[in-house]
Amino acid sequence: MSSVRDQVMTRQQPLPQPTLDNHEFYEAAQRGELRFQRCADCGTWRHYPRPVCPECLSTRLSWERASGRGTIYTWTIVHGPTLPAFQDDLPYNVVDVLTDEGIHFQSQVLDCPPEEIYAGMPVEAVFVPVTEDMTLVKFRRV
Ligand SMILES: [Zn+2]
Repeated sequence: MSSVRDQVMTRQQPLPQPTLDNHEFYEAAQRGELRFQRCADCGTWRHYPRPVCPECLSTRLSWERASGRGTIYTWTIVHGPTLPAFQDDLPYNVVDVLTDEGIHFQSQVLDCPPEEIYAGMPVEAVFVPVTEDMTLVKFRRV
């Protein structure tokens, strides 16, 4: 199996396109930090990034560093069909990680056979630089 970086570079896999709402997330990832928005009024963590707190509707927020740790909440194994750029990766996992901060984050567990993934499996974030400007947040078993 090739590395994530090799997959992106050689197969021209699509990359996230940072926006006004989420560019801080990707800039932090490039520094090896997992950061999420947190409401400055009620303290609720949130992800995906957005301008308004879903709990109290405040627009005051900060980008706070998360532990990078969590557990697998649920997952699926993709057997296809999928986009042509991902065809050579089949089968691959897509996981929902419940972070220690209570955020559900969709990603992938690296170096883990499909049959070894389970709900509650402890994982930690790893930062995979795939281009000069983009680092992806993936996970690995703890
Ligand atoms: Zn709030």
